[in-house]
Amino acid sequence: MEKHTRRQFIRSVLQTAAGLSVVGAAGAALSRSQRDDLVWQIDPEKCTQCEKCSINCVLTESAVKAVHSYSMCGYCDLCSGYLEPGAHSRDTGAESQLCPTGAIKRTFVEDPYFEYTIDEKLCIGCGKCVKGCGSFGNGSLYLQVRHDRCLNCNECAIARACPAQAFRRVPASTPYILRGEEGLRYAKKLPEKKA
Ligand code: SF4
Ligand code: SF4
Ligand code: SF4
Repeated sequence: MEKHTRRQFIRSVLQTAAGLSVVGAAGAALSRSQRDDLVWQIDPEKCTQCEKCSINCVLTESAVKAVHSYSMCGYCDLCSGYLEPGAHSRDTGAESQLCPTGAIKRTFVEDPYFEYTIDEKLCIGCGKCVKGCGSFGNGSLYLQVRHDRCLNCNECAIARACPAQAFRRVPASTPYILRGEEGLRYAKKLPEKKA
């Protein structure tokens, strides 16, 4: 199979898995969030990955997690969301990894492509990987409030601390601002907004 075609095939398979992951979590959150009128959410276009999400959430482990839109990912060998700047080698060694908790897993797909997945249990929402991915000019990694964890505090500590006005209330009927094809697929499943 021609390499480009092969890559597209692999990507579409991975996208399906990733999309199900994001949409599944979003769907579970929707049933809960429908009880409320508004929920907290991050605008990924405004977020500057300042790390205040991981510090200011009232939960010990932030309700904010990194998510990955695989439809936007370049599967870069030199993933600047995964590797420390100036890493001596591009491998899975702890000294090479950017993530402070080892939450990102790197899996070989085919030369020169690697898949990057996030273990949400380990993610503290520090945004380091998001910043790295963005600095590479991509942005497939971004931060979101996971509504299966968020307490929906009336006065969200992150919203008060956010320097970018990226943390705001959105209608519970559209509780996630998702990017890429996963986001579009999810948006189609949502009920129509009331006039
Ligand atoms: S609303 Fe509360 S639980 Fe949710 S992200 Fe903000 S501080 Fe954390
Ligand atoms: S670098 Fe930070 S935001 Fe990214 S996966 Fe690791 S803990 Fe989560
Ligand atoms: S506090 Fe605001 S700018 Fe900082 S990481 Fe959170 S949403 Fe992004």
